[in-house]
Parts: sequence; structure tokens; C-alpha cells
Amino acid sequence: MLLQVENLAVSYGNIKALHGIRFQVDEGEIVSIIGANGAGKSTTLRAISRLVPVAPGSRMSFMGKDLLQYPAHKVVTELGISHVPEGRRLFENLTVMENLRLAAFARKDADHIKRDMERVFDLFPRLKERLSQKAGTLSGGEQQMLAVGRAMMSAQKMMLLDEPSMGLAPLLMLNLFEALKELNQAGTTILLVEQNARMALQFAQRGYVLESGNLVLAGKSQELLENPEVRKAYLGG
Ligand code: ATP
Repeated sequence: MLLQVENLAVSYGNIKALHGIRFQVDEGEIVSIIGANGAGKSTTLRAISRLVPVAPGSRMSFMGKDLLQYPAHKVVTELGISHVPEGRRLFENLTVMENLRLAAFARKDADHIKRDMERVFDLFPRLKERLSQKAGTLSGGEQQMLAVGRAMMSAQKMMLLDEPSMGLAPLLMLNLFEALKELNQAGTTILLVEQNARMALQFAQRGYVLESGNLVLAGKSQELLENPEVRKAYLGG
């Protein structure tokens, strides 16, 4: 087991966003968490990245280590977990190349950095054609590719993806998910949160359904795609 989450609870002031959820991700898997607006999907990823405080009693471990002992920057540099946040959060005034280089700033292994940069360009040839273009002037899809590329440059073990399909045209979305599959086949475990349930379940091997801060269903993606409740609530009947 790579990531184990137990009794994870997060509140923002009086608002309880997560009510003590439990799930796990095994090494090499692609797992998705689907749910409606405000269900707590982004909060789950932020908790793993240590970007929001968790309630006492929450437990999270990664490769057998207590995640709660790691501050956010060490989650990336020491545990190898990268986070592609909703809305991408690129440095808009920096170029594609500068964004990628910055993501690797904490790393010292120059050869590996070069190899990873080449992998980013293999997966996303479009980025290679636009190295000196300012990130803020890229199309939405290209920005999403750069956000994934940046996560690849900062960490490799596990990638947390927040709504990568948001705002992408269907073809670009397929390209992005294809690239993510290749990344997974090369050894990166993926945890994806998505409102686009159909896309997420087609992409992932297993899924969880999050409703108002509680995980209410879990199963293989195929089972969830066939589940009448999931179909009614998330797949348009
Ligand atoms: P969406 O699909 O709309 O992005 P989500 O499932 O990712 O939704 P979260 O962003 O995790 O949901 O939000 C869960 C709940 O926590 C929501 O009720 C939201 O309003 C609340 N929330 C999230 N961030 C904050 C914050 N910084 N301050 C206060 N409340 C917050």
C-alpha cells in the first residue's frame, strides 16, 4: 500500500469539509475520487499535500511514513508527491521553460532533471514548441499540460490531480489523459479528483464517491460505471 488515509477530517472554521474519510491507493494504481461541487474533493488532495490543517485523530501514511510529520514542501521533495491544483496556478509571466525549471529547483540531480525534462517534452510536444512563450499566454489546454509537466519535474512517486479535464476541449482532454496513462505506466501512481465522473472512471482502475465530506461508495471503476445510483447522480442516468 502506498497511501493510506484513515479518519481524515478537515474543517474550514465552522464548515466541516471532510468528516473522517478512509481510503487507500496502492503502488502503480490510478484511483479517482468523484463527487459534486463542494463534496470535499480538492480538500482531500490539499490535506494529503499538507496544505490544510487536519483535525486531531486524522491519520495518513505514505510508504509507511507518517505523512503528518512532513510539512508541505517536504511532501514534494522528500516523499515525491506532487499536486496539480485546480486552476493550474502557473507563473503566468514566466516562460514555459522557466516554469519547468523552477519546479525542479529543490533537486540537485542534473542528469535526472534533464531526463525528466525530456520526458515532459515526449509526452507534450506542444510545450517543446513553446519553450520561450509566457505561460499566461498559452491556451487552457497547454496550460494544463504545463501544470502536469511541472508536477513531473518536481516529484515522481505520486501525482495528485485536481480536475485536470476542466475547461479542456474533448480532444485535448483525451490527449492529456493518454499522456497521464503513459506517466502512470512509467511508474507514477495517480490520484485524481474529478467532477467529470465518466472521464475519471474510464481513466482510473478504481474509484470512490465523495458526498458532502463522506465517502459513500467505493469499487472498481467498471462497477461504479454500472452502479444505478452512480449513473443517476453522476453519469446523467
Ligand atoms: P468543486 O468540485 O466545486 O471544486 P470540491 O469537491 O473540490 O468542489 P472543496 O473545494 O474541497 O470541494 O470544498 C469542500 C467544502 O469546503 C465546500 O463546502 C467549500 O465551500 C468549503 N471550503 C473549501 N475551501 C474553503 C476555504 N478556504 N474556506 C472556507 N470554506 C472552504
